[in-house]
Amino acid sequence: MIGDRIHQARKSSGLSMRALGEKAGISAMAISKYENNKSTPSSAVMLSLARSLGVRIEYFFRVSQVELKEVEYRKHSRLPKKVLNQIEGDVIEQIERYLELEEFLPVSPIELFSLPAGLPELIGNYDEIETVSAKVRQAWRLGSNPIPDLIDTLEERGIKVFRSTALHSNKFDGLAARVNGTPVIVVGRDWPGDRQRFTLAHELGHLALAGRLAEYLDEESAANRFAGALLAPASEVVKELGYQRKSLEPTELCVLKHAYGLSMQGWLYRARDLNVISQVTFQTMYRMFAARGWRKEEPGPRYNPEKPRLFIQLVFHAFAEDLIGESKAAELLGKSLSEFRTIRNVELCEPEAANQ
Ligand SMILES: [Zn+2]
Repeated sequence: MIGDRIHQARKSSGLSMRALGEKAGISAMAISKYENNKSTPSSAVMLSLARSLGVRIEYFFRVSQVELKEVEYRKHSRLPKKVLNQIEGDVIEQIERYLELEEFLPVSPIELFSLPAGLPELIGNYDEIETVSAKVRQAWRLGSNPIPDLIDTLEERGIKVFRSTALHSNKFDGLAARVNGTPVIVVGRDWPGDRQRFTLAHELGHLALAGRLAEYLDEESAANRFAGALLAPASEVVKELGYQRKSLEPTELCVLKHAYGLSMQGWLYRARDLNVISQVTFQTMYRMFAARGWRKEEPGPRYNPEKPRLFIQLVFHAFAEDLIGESKAAELLGKSLSEFRTIRNVELCEPEAANQ
């Protein structure tokens, strides 16, 4: 009902009936009647209400909040049901806030996700996956340099990325799902950055490769190959390591890990997949990694986790343009008003503060 929508928008704006009436040039009594569905505003009144409330006029006609269907998980997810439920609750709540924010923005700045055109229809061997990742990089104008911020890159292209503390254990992989058609990827909040990035790239690989792989290829290996190729393209691997090597020095891999946000083990696989090292050398080094406990935790400084920033940026955008008030902005960020004011203090400019 239109009345419920007017009521909801007024509550979101933090205006009283009287205040809204003054802004829109209508009596508070009339607003009360509209909200209680006792009378219906004319289109001129509706327009003025929309302006005063900072919503688009269609807002009033939308039935209600978009219905969230059950999150569809990828088949390969082996997460225990309990963890899944926890993540699901977490993610749905965050998506609802996203949808609510998008309603306040006159033009949604978030693209709908689509794959680049011209991807090969049938992939017959793993090496061809290099082409797919190169096409994605090209379509997204990423060049061949390291991708500085993969979460940002994906969010700009319409993939929603969320972090969850429920993915704490080493055993748990990331999670990909679709919610109302939008691809969603969930990574562990406290994971090292290189693990987050590999998971994000791996899940993007599933999206890009779906329906294209010859049946004798393994989907998981294919997604891993895509991830490695996206994070460190073949041309760069050869440039960094050379065409052919007898062995690789761990320190060398550690330096590259920090340059590209791809783990040392990820580099080892790239070196083998691109025939820079032989299978025998790969196995020798792999065993050395295992023996030193590096399979679980790599040596050297940690690659910092990435932090999503698009949502926060959009909240402040809407706030600056008076599309939402202070209390709505705080609510969307899941903060109290005083916390919001602290975050608003530009001296801090601490994206993570709004994100916790
Ligand atoms: Zn997978």
